[in-house]
Amino acid sequence: MVFFGIDIGSTATKGTLVNHNGDIVYTTVEAIGTGTKGSARVTERVQEFAAQQGVSIQMTMATGYGRFSYVEGGLQKSEISCHAKGMFYLLPNVRTIIDIGGQDVKAIRLNNKGQIVNFVMNDKCAAGTGRFIETMAKVIDVPLAQFGDLAVQAVSVASISSTCTVFAESEVVSKMSTGISIPNLIAGIHASVARRVVGLVRRNGIEPDIALSGGVSLNMGIVTALEEELHAPLFVSPFSQVAGSLGAALYAKELFEKGNGKTL
Ligand code: ADP
Repeated sequence: MVFFGIDIGSTATKGTLVNHNGDIVYTTVEAIGTGTKGSARVTERVQEFAAQQGVSIQMTMATGYGRFSYVEGGLQKSEISCHAKGMFYLLPNVRTIIDIGGQDVKAIRLNNKGQIVNFVMNDKCAAGTGRFIETMAKVIDVPLAQFGDLAVQAVSVASISSTCTVFAESEVVSKMSTGISIPNLIAGIHASVARRVVGLVRRNGIEPDIALSGGVSLNMGIVTALEEELHAPLFVSPFSQVAGSLGAALYAKELFEKGNGKTL
C-alpha cells in the first residue's frame, strides 16, 4: 500500500510515493510545470513503479500552483502546508524553511511540532526566484546544473546592484563585455538572489535550524550565498527538491488513516 503526492509547480512537477510507514519509496521530477504534460508524465511513472512493485496507490494528494487542475484523486492541499510537512519530516529540527521555487519565494516558520507559526511569500517579482537564476544562465550561456560548481571557483564576487530582473540582465551583459570571469559573475548572481531572499525571510523572523526546500536547493552556490547572508548554516536534504510532493504524500497517508475522504 502506497500514498502518492504530486507537486505541480510553475516550473517543474514532482512526485513522491510513501509506504504505510511513511518511508519514501519513489520520487520523480519532470522539468515542466503547470499547464503542460508534466503531471501526466509524473503520474504515469508513479503508476508504472507501483505496478512493477505490485503495490496499490491508496490515496493521491495534489499540491503546487497547478493543483486545482489535477483531477485524479480530487484532493488538494496548499504548497505552504506540504513544504512544511515534508521538510519537518526530513529535518525534524527545522524551524525556518526557505522555499525557493521557479516563480516565488516563501519563508515558513514552524514550531517544535511542525505546525506553521507564520509565513511570508513573494510571488510578484522574479528577482530572488529560480526564474531569475534561469534567466541569468541563459544570458551567460552556462547550463544551470554547472552554476554551483562554477561559483566555488570565484575569486571575488561580482557586484550586481539591480534588484529588477530586467535591469540585472542588462547589468550582467555589460559586466560580461568588460571580460569579468564567469565564476565571479555567477557568484554575484547568487549573492544578489541571497540578499533578496534573506530580506524576505528576515521579515518573517528567523529561528534555527534553517532549511532550504524547492528545486533551487540543487544549486550549492545558492546554498553558500544564503549561508553567508544569513550568517548561519542552511540545511539541505537530498529530498529538498521534492519536499512539497513528499508533504502531499504524507497528508494523503494521514487522511487515509483517518478514513476521511474529504478535501483538507
Ligand atoms: P516550482 O515548484 O515553482 O515549479 P521548483 O521548486 O521545482 O519550482 O524549482 C525550480 C527551480 O529549481 C528552477 O527555476 C531552477 O532555478 C532550479 N533547478 C532545477 N533543477 C536544477 C539543477 N539541476 N541545478 C540547479 N538548479 C536547478
